[in-house]
Amino acid sequence: MALATTRALVLQSFPYSETSKVLRLYTLEHGLRSVMAKGALRPKSRYGGVLEPFTEGTATFYLKEGRDLHTLSGFDLVRSRQGLGRSLVGFAGASLLAEIVMRTGTEEPHPALYETLVQAWDVVAAAEGPARALAASLAGAWSLVVLLGFEPQAGACVVCGREVEDDEPVRFDAHAGGVACTLCRPAGRVLDPVSRAELRRLLLGEVPEGGVARPRTQGALLRAFLEAQLSQERPFRSLELFLESVATVPPGRGGGEDGAGDDARGGADAGAGLA
Ligand SMILES: [Zn+2]
Repeated sequence: MALATTRALVLQSFPYSETSKVLRLYTLEHGLRSVMAKGALRPKSRYGGVLEPFTEGTATFYLKEGRDLHTLSGFDLVRSRQGLGRSLVGFAGASLLAEIVMRTGTEEPHPALYETLVQAWDVVAAAEGPARALAASLAGAWSLVVLLGFEPQAGACVVCGREVEDDEPVRFDAHAGGVACTLCRPAGRVLDPVSRAELRRLLLGEVPEGGVARPRTQGALLRAFLEAQLSQERPFRSLELFLESVATVPPGRGGGEDGAGDDARGGADAGAGLA
């Protein structure tokens, strides 16, 4: 048994007994680990209530290789990001980012994954207003997906390989891994050129200044892709809340999906059918 000290991010925290908590940590040096924080729920706990999701600190724990649960012995706070809890969109987005890491991380260290999550959480936490928080969450989620090697193809048809024109409506085939031209995929919901251009910027980690033009379309794209490529039959628990929060965000500049009519050409809300 070795005492490990490493930077760590709290992905999830839940009560284990009257007085203890179990944390899912993503650590810089030991990857994804679960630790028991004994006494963390006592009023005068030495952890002082910092063991909450989105917190970063230096964790010390007794590491027993081959075990699923380790024992936390110390946690020095670096950054709490408590502000994320004050915004529905920010909280939902940060929770989704945490779940992506929880679902894909392993015990092998992956410093780039750690840093990408830190950066994504920071951008979401610093976002002013729900539109920016949503855009930051989407950019962060796609950054993780790209880093993990699942980048959707957004420039060329996944079936015939032809580069699609900038103004060409396409479809999004999440199972095939990206956009498909309408010749290869004659049926299904159209992905409009504005949303595809926006997706390409989000894939580069860019956060549109005024928020995304079509929040629900972007939410649906992310959902379809996560479910097709990363869920492995286990639904993402944080997706429902995330999509509920997306529905509260008004369209950004150049948007207008959320009008009354359902535009058959695909400019309207694309809440379903993208998969
Ligand atoms: Zn094609």
